Amino acid sequence: MSEAFSAETRSFDTEVHQLLKLMINALYSNREIFLRELISNASDASDKLRFEALTNEALKGLDQDLAIDVSIDPEAGTLVVSDRGIGMSRDEVVANLGTIARSGTRQFLESLTGDQKKDASLIGQFGVGFYSAFIVADEVQVETRRVGATAEQGVRWVSAGDGQYRIEPCELADHGTRVTLILREEHRDLLNRWQIERIIRHYSNHIAFPIRLTEAGKDEDAATVNDSQALWSRPRSDIEQAEYEEFYSSLTGDTEKPVSWAHHHVEGSQRYSLLLYLPGQAPFDMLINRDEREGVKLYIQRVFIMDAAEQVVPRYLRFMRGVVDSADLPLNVSREILQDSPLLKKIRATVVKRSLDLIEKLAKEGGERWEQFWKAFGSVLKEGVIEDFEQRERIASLLRFASTHEDSAGETVGLDDYLSRMGEDDDTIWFLTADSLKVAQNSPHLEAFRQRGIEVLLLTDRIDEWLVAHLDEYKSKKLKSVARGKLDLDDEAAEPDEAASKLAGRIKRALGDVVGNVQPGTRLTESPGCIVADEHGMTLQMQKMLRQAGQEVPETKPDLEINAGHPLLQAMDGISDDKRFGELSQLLFDQALLAEGGELADPAAYVRRVNTLLVEALAPRAGKDDSGDGQHAASS
Ligand code: ADP
Ligand code: MG
Repeated sequence: MSEAFSAETRSFDTEVHQLLKLMINALYSNREIFLRELISNASDASDKLRFEALTNEALKGLDQDLAIDVSIDPEAGTLVVSDRGIGMSRDEVVANLGTIARSGTRQFLESLTGDQKKDASLIGQFGVGFYSAFIVADEVQVETRRVGATAEQGVRWVSAGDGQYRIEPCELADHGTRVTLILREEHRDLLNRWQIERIIRHYSNHIAFPIRLTEAGKDEDAATVNDSQALWSRPRSDIEQAEYEEFYSSLTGDTEKPVSWAHHHVEGSQRYSLLLYLPGQAPFDMLINRDEREGVKLYIQRVFIMDAAEQVVPRYLRFMRGVVDSADLPLNVSREILQDSPLLKKIRATVVKRSLDLIEKLAKEGGERWEQFWKAFGSVLKEGVIEDFEQRERIASLLRFASTHEDSAGETVGLDDYLSRMGEDDDTIWFLTADSLKVAQNSPHLEAFRQRGIEVLLLTDRIDEWLVAHLDEYKSKKLKSVARGKLDLDDEAAEPDEAASKLAGRIKRALGDVVGNVQPGTRLTESPGCIVADEHGMTLQMQKMLRQAGQEVPETKPDLEINAGHPLLQAMDGISDDKRFGELSQLLFDQALLAEGGELADPAAYVRRVNTLLVEALAPRAGKDDSGDGQHAASS
C-alpha cells in the first residue's frame, strides 16, 4: 500500500516560533487556559462536521452523539483531548498547525504587554489557541483523520515546540482528532481528576457538546463534566446570573464580566432565541478592523452556522456579543443564500432594537460603567448615525460630547441635555469641531457664544466631522457649526459699518489670493480675526482629515472674519504704508489659521514677521519709521 505522503520534518513559520516563545513565558501563570483552547477546537471541529452533514448525504448519522473526550494518565504524565469532528487532511495540518493564517496575529504579537493577565485574555480573542498546549507540554502530538478519508490517510503531527515539527502518515480507525500532551514535570500536578474537572467547569461548561473525562486505569465509563445544553435555549427563569456570566466568558474569552445582557425567546410567525451581551471592554483592534464581526454567532436549531456578519449585526454594533438561534431558517441553506433571507432581516432588526435597549438602559443609569462604555465604544456607535437612517435619532440621543457648559468635564453632554438648557426661542444646536479639546476650548469662535451665554458642543473625535455632516437636525432643531457662514446671534442683525467694510476690503487686497472673503463680523470679542467656513463648504478640519486619508481635496481658500473693534485692527486702519499693512494682514491671517489648528503655508515667514515686530517693540525706536502707525484713526 502506498503512502499518501512521506514523513518529513518542517520548520514553523517564524511567526509561530515567535509566538510560542512569548506564550510560554507570558502565560506561565495562566497555564490552565490550554485546556479551554483544545476543547474549543474540538468543539469547532464538531460544529463543522454537523454543518457539512447538513448538505452532504454521505455524512448523515456521523453528526449524532458528538462528544469530546478528555483523558488523563498521571503515571505516564499525559493528557489527551479527542473529538469526532471534521478532522484534518495532511495539507490542512500543515496550514493550520504550522503557520498562523489569521491576520490578527501580528497585531497580537505586538500587543503583548508583558502583563500576564492582560495577555492571557488576548489569547482567547485571537486564533492562536492551539499553541497554548506548549505552556504545559514538552511535546504535543496530533493524530487526525479528515471525514471522508480512509484509515490509511491519517496524519500524525509531533512537535516539542522548539521551532520544528514532524509530520507523517498514520493509520487511524476513526475520523476526528486526538491531541496528546506529554506534560512537563512541573505541570503534572494538573493530572488529577479534581483539577481537570474544575478547569473544564470553569472555562468550558457551556460548550454545546458533552465533555467526558476518564482517568487511565480507573474509569470504566466516562463521566460527563459539563452542562452541555445550549444555555440560550433554556428558559430565562432557569438561568442564574453566574451562568450567564460564565457563558459570556466561554463565548468571548473576555476575562471581564459583561455589562449587561438580553435574553429572549421570540415566538410567533418566526421563532428564534436571542442572547445578546454588552461587553465592558473593547478588544483592542475594534476600531481598526471595521469588518471583523465575530461577535454574534448564528445558529439554526442549535447547529452553528456562522459568525454573524452584516446580515445579523450592523457594523456600528460590532462590539455586541452573543448568539442568535433560529428555529425557522432552513438548515440546508448555503451561507450565500442566507444573506438575502427576509427572516434574517427580521432577526437583524431585533438585534438592533435589543442592543439599543441595553445601551439606553446603561446610559440612563449613567455613572462609571456608562462612561467606560462610552470611552470604549462611543466612536463605533457614532457610525450608526451615519449608516442607519431609521435609528438615527435614537442613536443620536445616546451620543455624548464635551461642551462649553461643563468646560473641564469630558464627554458627558447629550443632545437632550443641550435641548433642556436651550432658550424657548432658540432653534439651533451649536457645535465646534476641532483636533483636540484644548484647541476647541480656546477657539476664537467661541468668544461671541461665551459672551452671550450660549452653549456650544465641542466635537473632537475624528469621526465627528462625518457625524455632523449626516446629523443636521435633532428633534427638529438644526445642528450648526459656530465656524460656518454668517452668524446672526443678535436679533437686530447689525449692519457692519462702512469703515469696517472698507478695512476688510483693504485686507483682502493686501492678502490677495491666499484668502477667500474678508468680512467684518460678530463672532469675535477678544481675538482680532478668525477663519470661517462658508455655509456649505468644507471646514478646515474636514479638509485636513480627507487629506490625511489620502484623498485629493480641491484647494479652497479660507474666509477671514475680522473684529474691527479690536485694537490691532484699529491700529492697522491708521497705517498708510501699504507694505507694512500687508505684513500685518498676513500676520492676522496666519494667526487665525493657527488658532484653528491649521497649517501655515510658510511657517518660517510667519516667524520672521513676528520677530520683526518683537524687535521693534523691544528695541528703542530708531525713529526712521514714519509710516504713521500709532495714530489711531477713529473708526466710528
Ligand atoms: P482557531 O481555533 O482560533 O482557528 P487554533 O490555534 O486554536 O486557532 O487552531 C488553529 C486551527 O487548527 C483551527 O482553525 C483548525 O483549523 C485547526 N484545528 C485545531 N484543532 C483542531 C481539531 N481538534 N480538529 C480539527 N481542526 C483543528
Ligand atoms: Mg481555537
